[in-house]
Amino acid sequence: MIKLSFHPYVLKPLTSLNSVSTGASRSGALFKVEWPDGNIGYADLHPWTELGDDSLEKQIEGLRKGKISRMMEQTIWLARKDALLRKAGKTFLTAGEKVRNNFLVSNVDEIIPGYLDDVKRQGFSTIKLKVGRNLKDEATAITRIAAADLKIRLDFNGLGSWQTFEKFMTNLSPNERAWIEYVEDPFPYDKAAWAEAKKLIKIAIDAPYAKVDWDNLQKAPFDIVVIKPAKMDVDQAIERCMKFNLKATVTSYMDHPVGVMHALAIAMECKQNHPSIMLDAGCLTHRCYQMDSFSAEMNTQGPFIAGVKGKGIGFDRLLGALPWQSLN
Ligand code: MG
Repeated sequence: MIKLSFHPYVLKPLTSLNSVSTGASRSGALFKVEWPDGNIGYADLHPWTELGDDSLEKQIEGLRKGKISRMMEQTIWLARKDALLRKAGKTFLTAGEKVRNNFLVSNVDEIIPGYLDDVKRQGFSTIKLKVGRNLKDEATAITRIAAADLKIRLDFNGLGSWQTFEKFMTNLSPNERAWIEYVEDPFPYDKAAWAEAKKLIKIAIDAPYAKVDWDNLQKAPFDIVVIKPAKMDVDQAIERCMKFNLKATVTSYMDHPVGVMHALAIAMECKQNHPSIMLDAGCLTHRCYQMDSFSAEMNTQGPFIAGVKGKGIGFDRLLGALPWQSLN
């Protein structure tokens, strides 16, 4: 039997992260997983109850009774990958293909011309913009990003309607629309309405992924799958992309730096194994939060992760020093 220990943490957002969050502190827990073979690995559990996940308390309570949630299954799967790398004395950087990440903007007020020049100088080529809160200012931001020759990923987080989405898209100029790589979760999932939306622009599916009736799908009403290793079966997602001829992007779950590193590791592994499917990733989300001892150890170089301190997903010293609470 595996042995589980956990350590609750709090992340402090620098700003409201998306249209469903308020900017309040976010809780999650790190897990230490020990296998009977002596291997030890670490991973994150960071529920978004706003997006329908069970709360941390509920998932930990379930674990005490031997119930493993879908998210916790992923936590253990990722911890196993970490454990095997640690055992081999390697980091994930030696186990995959280099992956470029988009630059995440949670607040459109940040999009001023000089700022975009700086983002470009750092080496980023794509901006991901969380939209749906102030469509007028967001349209202005898109004009500026397109003028700066940066690709754009828009995320409505499933809010709004077909009508607001259609109006928003048709109000953009053809040049602006050409810079949009895709629109994620434009409005609540509806197969027919999404198929219509797909005629206007490339559509990516994120949160409603589990609602899709994959077994009875003839043609997917979207073009791209957002793979979140924190809560999705990655191999199954890749299989579905191949079956329905879709592209994929791996993103973090706006979680702890441990979750960010795991997402990066999966992004690199997917790119190595399926180069024709994988688009740039969206894992560098740790900067949405105030810096802590973990994010301070993340060594990034523009859109890339440049180094890892320690083995596996890193943070050896920090993880080793945490006051772990045993679960079983
Ligand atoms: Mg999303």
